[in-house]
Amino acid sequence: MKLPTKMKALIKKEAKPGIWLEEVSVPKPPYGWALIKIKKTAICGTDLHIYKWDEWSQRNIKTPMVVGHEFMGEIVEINGGGNGFKVGDKVTAEGHVVCGQCQNCRCERQHLCPNTKGIGVSMQGIFAEYAIVPVYNLWKCDPSISDDLYSIFDPFGNAVHTALSFPVVAKNVLVTGAGPIGIMAAAVAKFAGAKNVVLTNTSDWRLELSKKVCPGVLTINTKTHNIEDLMKKHGIDNGFDVGLEMSGAQSGLNLLVKNMMMGGSVALLGLFGEGATIDWDKVIFGALNIKGIYGREMFSTWQQMDSLLRAGMNLDPIITDRLHYTEFQKGFELMESKKCGKVILSWD
Ligand code: ZN
Repeated sequence: MKLPTKMKALIKKEAKPGIWLEEVSVPKPPYGWALIKIKKTAICGTDLHIYKWDEWSQRNIKTPMVVGHEFMGEIVEINGGGNGFKVGDKVTAEGHVVCGQCQNCRCERQHLCPNTKGIGVSMQGIFAEYAIVPVYNLWKCDPSISDDLYSIFDPFGNAVHTALSFPVVAKNVLVTGAGPIGIMAAAVAKFAGAKNVVLTNTSDWRLELSKKVCPGVLTINTKTHNIEDLMKKHGIDNGFDVGLEMSGAQSGLNLLVKNMMMGGSVALLGLFGEGATIDWDKVIFGALNIKGIYGREMFSTWQQMDSLLRAGMNLDPIITDRLHYTEFQKGFELMESKKCGKVILSWD
């Protein structure tokens, strides 16, 4: 197949709000990298930050850059050994590109590589007709799982990594924050055998969506309802065994720390920005075990994702909107409205 030299891509062209649809050169894969024909992509909260050009983006993003990191597609070229992958394979990929040389990388802890670069953040992204990805990062798509779901494996991986950081079977689990990753984390904890999963948010829209994604999960709007009443009603008398902080909001963190059981375990994924605080006395006297979560474990989290979906976990309802890439503007507006789950852009 003769590959084109030019392609359409969504670019952070200038250091100001917005994203631009432009024509650019098709990238050439360096040795050890593959060229992917992109089929589906999903918009991440990170992309929205870049779109809005907030303080974090201004500090971290160099323009011009193709944005995006959540995708699935088909390999059209491999430079060097395929390491089990071949042209024509359907793939998705880990969005963190690690160095392979540091102490953590050499000890099977690649997700903790201090030299990690992010696709679509610190290197060219995948919101394009073609993109290059290291062969090491590729993950082969199982035919029993849909293309749409593979395009959200990156955020699903955040959810799985967080939700399965501590044993949840027969435990009471509190998830603060019902963004798409929070909802998926609650669904994973429930599917994996938690006794009660309580999911909090301050938007009823997102809590309604979560009922479709994770039936059986107890939802509560903490703006209008009291979590203590819900806990009493469901016999969660001593607090939660496991807490997953997915909101990145001070109020979410406070609620979580306050309602943990003594000796409970807390996983933190939500990003707080500058100036967040924690009640350390509650951590110390509550003997809490706290773990920060970054990315996905390579590649045990990916095995867990495949396994959960093949075992029958139904993640389809988290995808609420399917658009063509030329409608990206509408996609970002939906993300900004928070009246959506995952928004997929098709590149066919
Ligand atoms: Zn490393």
